Amino acid sequence: MHASVIEAVRERGPAPADRKRERCPLCASERLQHCLTLPHNPLLKCADCGLSCTERIGSDEAVAEYYRDRTAHAGKLEEGNELAAAMASFQAELLSRVISHEGGRLLELGCAAGNLLAAMEQRGWQCWGVELSETSLQAASSTTHATLHLGTLDNFSHPLEDFDCIAAFDLLAHLTDPVTTLRQAASLLRPGGWLVLSTVNEGWPLVPVFQRLFSLLPDQTAGLRDEMYEAQHYAYFNKSTLTRLMREAGLDLHTVEPLAPFSAHYFRHQYRLTKRLALTGMLGLDRLMGASRKMLVAARKPLG
Ligand SMILES: [Zn+2]
Repeated sequence: MHASVIEAVRERGPAPADRKRERCPLCASERLQHCLTLPHNPLLKCADCGLSCTERIGSDEAVAEYYRDRTAHAGKLEEGNELAAAMASFQAELLSRVISHEGGRLLELGCAAGNLLAAMEQRGWQCWGVELSETSLQAASSTTHATLHLGTLDNFSHPLEDFDCIAAFDLLAHLTDPVTTLRQAASLLRPGGWLVLSTVNEGWPLVPVFQRLFSLLPDQTAGLRDEMYEAQHYAYFNKSTLTRLMREAGLDLHTVEPLAPFSAHYFRHQYRLTKRLALTGMLGLDRLMGASRKMLVAARKPLG
């Protein structure tokens, strides 16, 4: 039924890249330097703040068009996958642990088919979801009672300072203008409210090792490279650039913690044996280093 998860990611095709970046999306520096050759869109690194970002991004219209009829995905899972609900309850656990209170008003950015919203409703939350994919939003309307909005925060009209929590799992890397989006999110949070997100951790200690490998042996490492740098991503943060991002958005960074890749929990069994062993080895190494390729990030809106 589900071909390999990596095929599924590839089949989505690269996200639009019709606009060349002139400046770093985080610090506005013009000193963007080539970092890694990728098949569709080279990776650059800002010499001033250290953010890694693609050379080109999509215009708002192109991005909206790209996602309109693509089913949104949660991690590497397609909606409708029986594992999506399991992953949603894992995410609900993470949220509940971070914000340590039950119930309130929750907004999810990139709510896909609504599995997390449904899980949070069961925990007593009143939910809203924003999603660019019309296909996914249709699915969400039968999964959850949440109020659903097609589009982005640009056209989401909602009273300011209304939400207790905004969740954005695996969204940050897809944003063309992360500072603006997070400022919009911050304006919707009540003072003391939480922003909780997960994203790729470019500060993972093995990143320089893999980047060197990808440059030296591009053909032999293409599969791993395309998995580490998905063609739908525009930016990769580490703890330092995240700290700056939250400050720019008017939020206080609360915690950044390693998050084992969802692949470890949910589709390791789909990998062939050598890859499964490699993943197991890497997870062991991660435990030793206290690090992970993914991170869970929590930030709060200052109280006054
Ligand atoms: Zn920068």
